[in-house]
Amino acid sequence: IALPTNLFKDRENAPGIDLSNPEAWENIAQNTDDFASKPRSLFFYPKPKGKQVKVFSPANPEECLGEVPFPPEEDIENMLSLTASYAEEWDRLPVEQRAEKVKKLAKEIWENRDELLYLLCAEAGKTVPSALSEIREAIDFCNYYAKETTRLFAHPHLLPGPRGEENKLHYHGCGLWVCISPWNFPLSIFIGQIVAALLSGNVVAAKPAEETPLIATAAINLAYKAGIPREVLSLILGDGQSGKIMINHPLVRGVAFTGSTKTAKNIALYLSQKEGPIVPFIAETGGINCMVVDATAAIERAVKDILVSAFDNAGQRCSSLRLLLVQKEISDSILDLLSDATQSLIVGDPRFSETDVGPIIRKSLLEELQKFSCFFETQGRLLAKAPMGKTASSNGFFFAPQLFEIPSVDLVNQEIFGPILPVVRYSRNDLSYRLKEIHQKGFGLTMGLQTRLESLTQKLCFSAPVGNFYVNRSMIGAVVESQPFGGEGLSGTGPKAGGPNYLLRFVRERTCTINT
Ligand code: NAP
Repeated sequence: IALPTNLFKDRENAPGIDLSNPEAWENIAQNTDDFASKPRSLFFYPKPKGKQVKVFSPANPEECLGEVPFPPEEDIENMLSLTASYAEEWDRLPVEQRAEKVKKLAKEIWENRDELLYLLCAEAGKTVPSALSEIREAIDFCNYYAKETTRLFAHPHLLPGPRGEENKLHYHGCGLWVCISPWNFPLSIFIGQIVAALLSGNVVAAKPAEETPLIATAAINLAYKAGIPREVLSLILGDGQSGKIMINHPLVRGVAFTGSTKTAKNIALYLSQKEGPIVPFIAETGGINCMVVDATAAIERAVKDILVSAFDNAGQRCSSLRLLLVQKEISDSILDLLSDATQSLIVGDPRFSETDVGPIIRKSLLEELQKFSCFFETQGRLLAKAPMGKTASSNGFFFAPQLFEIPSVDLVNQEIFGPILPVVRYSRNDLSYRLKEIHQKGFGLTMGLQTRLESLTQKLCFSAPVGNFYVNRSMIGAVVESQPFGGEGLSGTGPKAGGPNYLLRFVRERTCTINT
């Protein structure tokens, strides 16, 4: 698809908060305390039925944040049928009107940032800077997709043909899309999927992860406040079983999923066995993301980028660095500095300004990380471990970032979703072979390179089978519109979120030929 010509003129990112200003932190702390102590305004569930489930904070699992209903199977099916019945009406609404509502949602998100910030820290365990960048990303998704939908779908495309014949390509929504999202970006990915599907003319049933129903409820209430009709957007809270029920509904005409590769494969299997039409499926999943640091790299910058890539968000990003390859000649210097830097990280309550690394989302993931840590300790050696900070409560799901040296890339065969970084030293002549071994694992999400060699940059930029390749910077934090995000192979089906081809996967194309 051709990119718009006014690429830079139209670009406008979400506003931010200057976190270098201590006053900003005081305001945030004040607002956070306010929300913790009073009933939350954005917490009402549209249909208060079903099994009541309590929501706890991963930083302090004794702190109950709220209670939400997980609806029973019959209600889920009825909600989906009802939503599907509004598909045609919504598809007929002019594209510009849909876009206006989504732009209004972007404004609502910013106006309600304090409450969302509180929820992202308390429910998802995000540090304040991470929570703020997630809020900004959600806003960027709304504004960018609203702009794109007008460019792409406002008018049918006129096509060439013989005299007396009119050929036009029209875009339509497909009907009911099911959007299923993970807990690690419970606002931006949740909202990004929903608005993309709605703007393309579809009605939506959205299921957030069971760990983050409060953020989802708040976001959906903001969408309703912005004028997106309740009839075209329903929120289904629940666990994986609820997601399965949704996918199997006979009126589903598309599924957008972000989560693990295992769940993506399960969903693809259910969809392939379903009666009725073939259902389009978008899957965005995880990766075994590596970074190569060669002997020409700028050491201090490399260390800073490695630290952020591996440990920001407690390593709970799909794009996080999972395997570091360091060229032998430079490896001692890098590993010394990196060990010191790892030990200087502060693990603790995500709401405090001094915290670098917040909690792990749930106990089972914490236990999994402990097992990987033991495994790497027996197979390799622990180089450094961050200390637990004062605000890391003993009952919270905290896991200190750890750096290991391991003898071989063979020891990493799955995505380890947390702050554990294994490092392998390589010699110059081995690099191609090491990379081949990593790429053969089948994932292809992000990759980083730290080098001053233009030839190596060009070579890997062309040949690395990954969706997002980052040179001499961190490998996280893709920016909507500038760095469309998504992987290949076991990491996803494409298209890339926040890029020019994303919305096109949510529509049906219809060619209309009229003999005039
Ligand atoms: P997950 O366990 O696969 O869950 C993702 C979503 O799928 C959740 O809402 C989950 O519900 C639901 N689900 C689980 N089983 C299902 C089933 N059988 N049918 C339908 N829905 C089902 O992943 P996660 O642990 O939440 O998220 C972490 C993963 O997401 C990591 O692998 C990470 O790399 C990936 N991720 C990828 C991207 C990307 O853009 N590529 C971005 C963020 C995260 P419940 O949670 O309620 O069970």
